[in-house]
Amino acid sequence: MEALERVVHCLDRAHDSGFKNKAFVRAIEVARETSADELADRAATNTLTKLDGIGDSSAKVITQALAGETAYLDALEQRTQIPISPAGARYRAALRGDCHLHSRWSDGGATIEAMACTARSLGHDYMVLTDHSGRLTIAHGLNRERLLEQRADVRELNNRLDPFRILNGIEVDILEDGSLDLDDELLGELDVVVASVHSKLRMGREQMTKRMVAAVCSPHVDILGHCTGRLIGKRPESAFDVDAVFTACADNGTAVELNCRPERLDPPRAMLDQAIELGCYFSISSDAHATGQLEWQPFGCDRAAERGVPIERIINTWSVDELLAWTRSSNR
Ligand SMILES: [Zn+2]
Ligand SMILES: [Zn+2]
Repeated sequence: MEALERVVHCLDRAHDSGFKNKAFVRAIEVARETSADELADRAATNTLTKLDGIGDSSAKVITQALAGETAYLDALEQRTQIPISPAGARYRAALRGDCHLHSRWSDGGATIEAMACTARSLGHDYMVLTDHSGRLTIAHGLNRERLLEQRADVRELNNRLDPFRILNGIEVDILEDGSLDLDDELLGELDVVVASVHSKLRMGREQMTKRMVAAVCSPHVDILGHCTGRLIGKRPESAFDVDAVFTACADNGTAVELNCRPERLDPPRAMLDQAIELGCYFSISSDAHATGQLEWQPFGCDRAAERGVPIERIINTWSVDELLAWTRSSNR
C-alpha cells in the first residue's frame, strides 16, 4: 500500500493526473480490498493482473514491494524530483509551513491526515487547512455546518500529531460585490483566512478592482489568493488596478500569495515587483490538492528569489506563534 501510495504521490508532484495516476488510485482500492495472502500468492504466480483494476505497472510495484525491491519506485522518484535553484533553496529552507492547501473535505484528493503527514515529512512545523467555502459547489465547498465538523476533526488530529500543527483556515470565495462567502463571526474564529476570486473572472477592470479591494480590506482576510486567476496558456489574467489592490493589501496587512501551482504561478513577475515595491507581506503557498503537490513550493521560492522578495516579509517563514499573533492583530 505504501509503495502504491508513493507512486501516486510522485505522479501528483509531476503534475501527472492522467490515465496512469487514475489507474494507480484504482489499484490502491483493489489492493485494499484484497487480502495480503491473496496478493502474495498472485505476486508469486504472476496473476496479479487477473484482478480487475490491477494493470502491468501496478502489478510490478506490488510484486517489487513484496520482494523488498524498489527499482520501479526509485526510477519514478528520480524522474519526478522538483528542481530548485540555489537562490530559491534559501527561501525554501526558510519556510516553516504552508498556508494554502485542500483536503478531501472540498476538492482535494487526500485526507487531512495524509496532507499533514506529508507536510511534516517535508520539514514543516504547521500547515493551514484551507478548503473551499460553500459557494464553490463544484468543489464541494464547506458551509458553516461542515466547517464546524471539520474543526472537530482537526482538533483530534492535532492531539495525535503534536507538535505538528494544523491551523484552521478556509479559502473563502470573494463574491461579485467583494463580500465574503462566510459570515464574519465564523471567519473571526478561523486562524488564517485566504480569500480568492473564482467566479466572474472577466468582469470589468473597475468593478474587479472594487471587488478585490473590498475583500482585502476585511479585517478577517489574511491572504489574497492567486490574485489574477490566470491559468497559464488557458485563461488570461483578470483585469484590475494592481496599484490600488496591492496598496490596499499593504495598508491592511493582507499578504499577497505567491501561488506555487505551475499552471498559476501567480502573481506574474511585473505584478510581484509592484507588490514588493508597495511593501506588501507575502505567503509562498502550494495550493496543493494532493500530497505530491505539497512539494510545489520550490516553484514559488524560485520566483521569490528571482524578484528579490524580502524573506522577512514572507509570513510562512515565521513560527506558528508569530503567524497567529499576526493574523489576530487588527493593526498590523
Ligand atoms: Zn482558489
Ligand atoms: Zn485553493
